Amino acid sequence: MKEKIEALLNEIDSFKASSKEQVEEFRIKLLSKKGKVGELFDEFKTVAPELRKEVGQKLNDLKNKAQDKLNALKEKFESSEEGNDKEQDLTLPAEAVSIGSRHPLSIVRNQIVDIFARIGFTVSEGPEVEDDWHNFSALNTPADHPARDMQDTFYINENPDIVLRTQTSSVQVHMMENTKPPIRTISPGRVYRNEAISARAHCQFHQVEGLYIDKHVSFADLKQTLMYFAKEMFGEKTQIRLRPSFFPFTEISAEMDVSCSLCEGAGCNVCKYTGWLEIMGCGMVDPNVLENCGIDSKQYSGFAFGMGIERITQIKYRVKDLRLYFENDVRFLKQFKSAL
Ligand SMILES: [Zn+2]
Repeated sequence: MKEKIEALLNEIDSFKASSKEQVEEFRIKLLSKKGKVGELFDEFKTVAPELRKEVGQKLNDLKNKAQDKLNALKEKFESSEEGNDKEQDLTLPAEAVSIGSRHPLSIVRNQIVDIFARIGFTVSEGPEVEDDWHNFSALNTPADHPARDMQDTFYINENPDIVLRTQTSSVQVHMMENTKPPIRTISPGRVYRNEAISARAHCQFHQVEGLYIDKHVSFADLKQTLMYFAKEMFGEKTQIRLRPSFFPFTEISAEMDVSCSLCEGAGCNVCKYTGWLEIMGCGMVDPNVLENCGIDSKQYSGFAFGMGIERITQIKYRVKDLRLYFENDVRFLKQFKSAL
């Protein structure tokens, strides 16, 4: 009897099933009413009384072991079967994944960066908290200059003045101070103004400023570069128009308009029936600015331009209220899903 128990124990230990059917065979062979374990229990009745305790214990161990093995095998096949079902049922609907959308200002910023990268402009960034020199003085706007009134900002410290930058031209000053020409870079970034918040003005917005400094850079290069940008951004038919203007850091200076992409110049309410949309300021870098930044203005010349990303986005996507950009209203933001 003991030998039979031992033999069965070995059989249980070494048993391996490769299908659910084999597990069932194992159950019938050992644990069903007429199975081998049952047979041994029948045989137990004939065991001599003095051996009963020892044999009985072994028999119980055998039964438990067989049951444990069966449970383990069942579990294994059931769980793997579930796994297979999940993998194989291709008719199940996919789980919905919400991917959100890029912010419209990021979309347009990336487009602008991409357009200028294609003609060799690098991207440069700088601090949003600036000293007076980099934000104003180096850019030909000394402390008593009236142009400062148009760019009132938030002061972190007075005397010496530390401010939230009013323009990303400050990044260009850093570039000119630290890089030898030729310089060809655009500086996208957030800027600040002390303005009452309304549909048309905000205390923060985004700019992209461009700078190109080399030998023999002329106004014709500026015009051609901006023409290329306008066509890439607003379409092949786009025309540009330069109007004389004034900025402290450029001489000569101009405002650039693009032909209205909605009415193609015929006049509509977006362009206020002029056929033109103002999008940026530009000009030849003032020789004083070059000298302020340690560049020989007799040897080098350059052009600079700057535009508001909000303004370009407003024209491209017809966003009428500036505040929408900063309110994080999902109803507004999800409209840009397809523009990723
Ligand atoms: Zn128009």
